Amino acid sequence: MDWQARFGRPPRYAGVSTFAHVPAATSPDGLDVAVFGVPCDSATTYRSGARHAPAAIRAVSGLLREYHPWWRVAPFEALRVGDLGDVPVVPAYVDETLRAVRDWTAGVVEAGAFPMAMGGDHSVTLPLVRAVAARHGTLSLVQFDSHPDTWDTEHGQRHGHGTWVRRAVEEGLIDPAASVQVGIRGSVDAAGDLDEARALGLRLIPMDEAAEIGVAAVVARVRETVRSPVYVTLDIDAADPSCAPGTGTPEVGGFSAREMLALVRGLRGLPIVGFDVVEVCPAFDPGQITALLAANLMYEMLCLLASRG
Ligand code: MN
Ligand code: MN
Repeated sequence: MDWQARFGRPPRYAGVSTFAHVPAATSPDGLDVAVFGVPCDSATTYRSGARHAPAAIRAVSGLLREYHPWWRVAPFEALRVGDLGDVPVVPAYVDETLRAVRDWTAGVVEAGAFPMAMGGDHSVTLPLVRAVAARHGTLSLVQFDSHPDTWDTEHGQRHGHGTWVRRAVEEGLIDPAASVQVGIRGSVDAAGDLDEARALGLRLIPMDEAAEIGVAAVVARVRETVRSPVYVTLDIDAADPSCAPGTGTPEVGGFSAREMLALVRGLRGLPIVGFDVVEVCPAFDPGQITALLAANLMYEMLCLLASRG
């Protein structure tokens, strides 16, 4: 018997927690989009706690409704979306966790599903990109972030949340000339830090420049930089701490929530093959506003995918 058909659906704040009430999936087979959590923060270097982000994002995603008037799509009708649960990461063991994320994501892309991940700290994007590049070839990276994440090591270690971009370039997973980092700002360790990021060949759009030229011009620059296929990673610290305080390494002077929505909408039509939202840290998230922004940005991406039919 279909219990829900018999008794009806509970209110949006209730029910078993999956992302936006999509069905819980035990396999990516048959899904167009597999949403999953990567509950790890062992590679954070400042405030930890992003391991709790997937649960927090699911909890606030219950209000996301069926139809998006701006996109004019009903994403859950247009796409088979399932919540695959959380990757079995290994707390405190970064290398083992990266392997687990890579294997999981490989299974998702081999099944033909679009991987949509909720971090976790930003170290998880490296294994996500490893798996997606193994399927689609060298990727264009679109990174929204206040940090370039291009250090060689952190505390002597090669796999932190601030080193993954350099690893991805070294491994040939991303084409730096077709990749762009948006929203870079804040203090750095030394005068040459951003030059080192640029020396990798990625296009940087620092926050000061983005504020000066405006979101529409930022979007235009992103679109003229990337080539197919595109991987989009969204470090929630790209947003200003006034609308995203719940994050591990906050930097003041970022994008508003509305600008973040516009940035994702600006990617419309691009051949995006993978997406993650990372660095949400619920312990520092009064009113759950950071998790709410993350959930809505995921919803925007789902609508983008739905809009391409
Ligand atoms: Mn960051
Ligand atoms: Mn980052």
